Amino acid sequence: MNINAFSSSPPFGQPMRKAVFAKKVHCLKNHHAWLANCHIEPAPGHLKLIADLCEQIDLIIPSSKSGKFKFFRVSHSFGGLMIYTTNINTHHERLRALRNCIEKCLDRAERTCPTCGMRQSEGVDEPCFSQFRCAEHRAGNGLFLEDFAAPITPSRDLEDLKQELYPEGLQQPGIKEAIELIKAEVSTNNFTRELALPSQEDTAASTTSTKVEVHLFELAAFDHFNKNISSRNKDHQYRLRLATEKIGKAGLNKRELQTLPNDWQEILIEFSARFPNFVNVSELLNDHFALTSLGDRRITFPPLLLTGNPGIGKTEAARWLAEKFQMPFRVQDMANAQTNAAISGSDSSFSNAEEGVIFELLSYQPIANPILLLDEIDKVDQNLKFNPLAPLYSLLEPGSAKQFVDLAIKDIPIDASHINWIATANSTQHLPQPIVSRFIVLHIPSPTSEQTQVIAQNIYAKLLSESSWGSRFFKKLSSDVKKSLEDQPPRNIRVLLTRALGSAARAKRHEIRIEDINIEQTKSTQGIGFLANFHS
Ligand SMILES: [Zn+2]
Repeated sequence: MNINAFSSSPPFGQPMRKAVFAKKVHCLKNHHAWLANCHIEPAPGHLKLIADLCEQIDLIIPSSKSGKFKFFRVSHSFGGLMIYTTNINTHHERLRALRNCIEKCLDRAERTCPTCGMRQSEGVDEPCFSQFRCAEHRAGNGLFLEDFAAPITPSRDLEDLKQELYPEGLQQPGIKEAIELIKAEVSTNNFTRELALPSQEDTAASTTSTKVEVHLFELAAFDHFNKNISSRNKDHQYRLRLATEKIGKAGLNKRELQTLPNDWQEILIEFSARFPNFVNVSELLNDHFALTSLGDRRITFPPLLLTGNPGIGKTEAARWLAEKFQMPFRVQDMANAQTNAAISGSDSSFSNAEEGVIFELLSYQPIANPILLLDEIDKVDQNLKFNPLAPLYSLLEPGSAKQFVDLAIKDIPIDASHINWIATANSTQHLPQPIVSRFIVLHIPSPTSEQTQVIAQNIYAKLLSESSWGSRFFKKLSSDVKKSLEDQPPRNIRVLLTRALGSAARAKRHEIRIEDINIEQTKSTQGIGFLANFHS
């Protein structure tokens, strides 16, 4: 196969034509059958690096196994190379080698011009805070030959464009036509940055148009409830009127189901990169979402019970998913629940009756399929008179969940069947079997040392991106710094890295060194019990 095509061209300093790029990608896919269904779209200057990487992958993972990359995805953002893979089932030494190769490839890409493939000259110790571009292609965001040839920019004056298109002033277009012309002109050029925005809007529009509407309760029940409010005592009246007001604002009995965004697969790929020890969660969601995407795209998955040590990021992972899929999210602490009131409300005959988390979550906001996380359900005291777990027996059965009754507002049974449940526990050992059987139990292993290194890099990247000073530091942690963190729980890593960045700043350095990581100090300030304080 003509793999030499990659080493011979493009000549350094010269951008590639789009058609040539497409041909090269085609050729690459021919050479590696397992790439056939993969999205391969690096910046043209980085294509050679990807070709090299694929060769290495062939060596590391026998070809039969390479087919198991369900998602090997290569793309670029502002010229920077991005590679996604899912975990594959192979020997950990092979995985380590694979990860090394990908890291090296990303490293090289950072020092390679995304337009022409020119390398940053060796020996130049100039810190590289962002994607390197050669002197020729430093200005602007162009990647392909066509970008540089294009004479018209989107910001160009309307008058200029009209002049060029109609030099003799013939058939001068009206404003509307001119705008259409600009749009047509722009779309034939490759102003990807600017053009990406409208197309994302289109995507958002098509996603919102698929919203699914459901009914939370019978209107008759609500009317009946409303009429009877005045027969209650004053305190009750005030509280119930407030409740009906909030219900009205949220859409009365109409609710929407959040649906899958178009990039749900990318979100799950990112999830498995961020939470590498949650691979069984991402696999399960992948299966369910693949099914859902064939239908009305409502986001739904079976009740999940995540078991595993505290401190491994169970709550973080659930919160991340809820945020990415734009679903309301609530954590219900079960360890301290004394009665079933937390979930199903306190009896309306008490003067201080309060709605439980289900009623509140579903009635006072417009989305009917939130994620509700029941934290530490194995810590619930089973001997309590009003067992906090009792409401779950009916709530986790889709049939009975359709008529859920909160004890504080008994007159309005609500449909709680769309809630997406995630429960956490150290183990299922102390849980009643009928509760366990209502969940799909997924054991979350503590991250391996290697996964912890990946998590450390993720936490570091997040720290930098959240801070105004983030751009002053190297984007990657050195391998010895990552190594020094590999036995730490995630919460600790964040603390350690923040301190280390401060220490580096004091030493006027752009990177964290091993001496900035002070594990002893964290231990002495937090005590040995820090693990127990960190809610997973
Ligand atoms: Zn260049």
